[in-house]
Amino acid sequence: MSNEPKILIIGAGAAGIAAASRLLQRGFKNVTILEAKDRIGGRIHTVEFGKNVIELGAQWCHGEKNNIVYDLASPHNLLESSKNIHDHSRHIFVDANGEVIPQNETIEIKRIYYKILDDASNTVHESKTNFGDYFTNQFHKEIKHNSLISEHRAEKMLDWMHKYENSIDCCDTWFELSATRLKEYWECDGDPLLNWKTLGYNKIFDLLTNNYPDPKKRLPVLEKILFNKEVSQIDYSYDDKIIVTTSDDTNYIVDSVIFTGSLGVLKENHQNIFHPSLSLNKIKAIENFNIGVADKIFLEFPNQWWPEKTGAICIMWSEKQKQQFLETYGQSRYWMTSLFLFFAVDYQPQILSGWLVGPAAKHVESLSDEEIVSEFYFILKKCLGHIYDIPEPTKMKRSKWFSDKHIRGSYSYRSLKTEESDVQTKDLSDPIKKSHGKPVVLFAGEATHEHYFSTVHGAIETGFREANRLIEYYK
Ligand SMILES: Cc1cc2nc3c(=O)[nH]c(=O)nc-3n(C[C@H](O)[C@H](O)[C@H](O)COP(=O)(O)OP(=O)(O)OC[C@H]3O[C@@H](n4cnc5c(N)ncnc54)[C@H](O)[C@@H]3O)c2cc1C
Repeated sequence: MSNEPKILIIGAGAAGIAAASRLLQRGFKNVTILEAKDRIGGRIHTVEFGKNVIELGAQWCHGEKNNIVYDLASPHNLLESSKNIHDHSRHIFVDANGEVIPQNETIEIKRIYYKILDDASNTVHESKTNFGDYFTNQFHKEIKHNSLISEHRAEKMLDWMHKYENSIDCCDTWFELSATRLKEYWECDGDPLLNWKTLGYNKIFDLLTNNYPDPKKRLPVLEKILFNKEVSQIDYSYDDKIIVTTSDDTNYIVDSVIFTGSLGVLKENHQNIFHPSLSLNKIKAIENFNIGVADKIFLEFPNQWWPEKTGAICIMWSEKQKQQFLETYGQSRYWMTSLFLFFAVDYQPQILSGWLVGPAAKHVESLSDEEIVSEFYFILKKCLGHIYDIPEPTKMKRSKWFSDKHIRGSYSYRSLKTEESDVQTKDLSDPIKKSHGKPVVLFAGEATHEHYFSTVHGAIETGFREANRLIEYYK
């Protein structure tokens, strides 16, 4: 059909692939995806490493109920619980001087942490409360009469919980998180840590495109992708067409565009990309929603030196220990005092995955591979070398989500700034329409989800949402 609408999708991450799959499934043929990178996936990035694969980005399917990832994967038995991480008795806690925290205390730490989070939705009443203050108050109440938590450890534990929570919400500090707007995020019931066994998260793209389990039913989504096509401008000033230009100076003249680039890309580039400028409302939303940085550093060792079935190795720091560390080893190593967590990796007996968040993550992105290996080895030896015989890592792989100009962050969150400016998700996700009602530029991607922002299932739902909007309009 010559009058069939031409749809352009920008970005081949979860949202973009979901949108394209839905459109193709509903008979739209004139669909093109422009992807700046040379691969699909965006923040889903499964790579071969060690004995298997690792996830530089999304790792777990978070929950089972009302979760599109679970709905797609579970009928084929592709997911499995990350049991060792769930089991808090399998987490090793040491402090920066190597003191091992007794297990009954570490289990109690996690119990308190989850209790405060569970209670939060009922007990946060005041707006403009930052989550850090809220949590700290609750924590002190919890430990006041708690005989299991020794007083001298409480401070280190709180510091550890602070870092852990920053990694969940992807913020620099929980003192900038809005306590009331945390409620906007909805957990899906069921197991929150489901891994993809040996396959990796990128299996989701086979499911979305119907390539699995029966390749004969595959939708031709991959054929619609043009790689290494970085969109530099979306000109929607014309009445009936949109002109999209890529940085290699190619023009695409289309009817509607679904933009799925991250909030980080929008923050950095919306002024250059959109012509005419976006509405003040949308700009306000782009400026006042947040995206933080979480990075993973994977270290492969010649052997598994930690106990079998360990879920995680956690490092705690008191303020005094941080100070002593910097005095002894130099201020330039400040970022190491942010090191708090190494996960053991499912199906990878010789690999640990270190997590870094916020300014420390940004800083580590600027270090060389050699520096990272030697500094991580140094800290592991310092904290655990008296208990385990730790060999030098043989290989390393890491993410750099902030330096990546096509991503510029890891996942989005709602801060006090979001609360104070009173921006709503709708401000970010509303499409740009022409006066006759035609949606010309539509916005998908994790940050545009009302409740499942920051996740893959959220991103996929937004891709479907915007594809449905076009299906509805063009039908
Ligand atoms: C370290 C980390 C861990 C995570 N862990 C989990 C987890 O365990 N579970 C979970 O559910 N979620 C997790 N997430 C979040 C999840 O990965 C994201 O929410 C989701 O993948 C986002 O998908 P998206 O399609 O919205 O955006 P993206 O994946 O960012 O896709 C956007 C695409 O647009 C492309 N693009 C950008 N600008 C342009 C341009 N100008 N021109 C052309 N193309 C462009 C990008 O290259 C990219 O491919 C994690 C993320 C990170 C970084």
